[in-house]
Amino acid sequence: MSSQALDISGRGLGGASARPPVAQLVDVSKHYGSVRALDGLSLDVHRGEVLALLGPNGAGKTTAISLLLGLLRPDGGAATVFGLDPRSIEVRTRLGAMLQVSGLAPTLTVRETLQLYRSYYPRPASLRFLVELADLGELLDRRTDALSGGQLQRLMLGLAMAGDPELVFLDEPSAGMDLESRRRLWQSVRDVASAGRSVLLTTHHLEEADALADRVAVIHRGTLIAEGTPTEIEASVSGRRISCVTSIDLARLRAIGGVNRVERRGAATEIFTARAEDVLRQLFDLDPGLSALEVGGAGLEQAFLALTRDDQDQERAA
Ligand code: ATP
Repeated sequence: MSSQALDISGRGLGGASARPPVAQLVDVSKHYGSVRALDGLSLDVHRGEVLALLGPNGAGKTTAISLLLGLLRPDGGAATVFGLDPRSIEVRTRLGAMLQVSGLAPTLTVRETLQLYRSYYPRPASLRFLVELADLGELLDRRTDALSGGQLQRLMLGLAMAGDPELVFLDEPSAGMDLESRRRLWQSVRDVASAGRSVLLTTHHLEEADALADRVAVIHRGTLIAEGTPTEIEASVSGRRISCVTSIDLARLRAIGGVNRVERRGAATEIFTARAEDVLRQLFDLDPGLSALEVGGAGLEQAFLALTRDDQDQERAA
């Protein structure tokens, strides 16, 4: 799996679509000394889509975004945005980015900070639009050093949109947010995308990718290993989740042929397998009193785990 990418969408990995992509990486490699961060990565961001970049820690997501922002140069291959060099002034005025480093002036208020960022762009978004989008109405006179983590993230989203960009990069936008704040931020991101802008999002929350993304690209060890809609990615891993209440112990369950993973959730046991029928037969043989049975799709999280599991692990599980 890790050596060959899985074209789930059928449109070709990083391949051409009917309209030219707004941002593109073609066969890009990037090293930091002896560390190979990207290894022949190709990726397209299409106009008007939310693309979620998923991958385990160290997969190369931040490096990929840094290349598209012109903060880094590739060692090999090409990075373009709007068909241009990402370092060009024209690209910079049409892009927005919400990165994990803030660098805000602590003594400025939210209003002053928004106005300052608006002043950097030739055609800025209106203050009113930014305030509504990022839900900052009650915070305008607050100094930035007095904002909570979630409020700061909302301000960062407003700042990313200050130049009314056509393409926005959101690097883990809901990092450190509680569920309520995360859902509010999701609504703001949906509002950004519904106005026809393109969004490239990195996240560790698969729920976030599922909730927001039109398309998901999974990166592992600097290479694209799968892309498609969240539903296509889920379907690509033919796994099923069996949930039940059973007296069979965990070691015995894990020894059943075809079982990939077993988890206890309260009174219920969850069993992940690509051979649900075989496993069910064996479960009933071992425990005729088994109850509360449910069988469903494995979900995006399981698909992600299966896709990014190392070959060694897969051999062990087989
Ligand atoms: P995370 O999810 O943990 O943020 P990521 O997918 O964004 O990870 P990158 O930050 O792009 O991954 O890192 C890719 C690889 O390059 C990792 O092995 C990382 O340790 C390495 N790396 C990144 N930046 C540097 C650097 N400045 N110097 C040396 N190695 C680096």
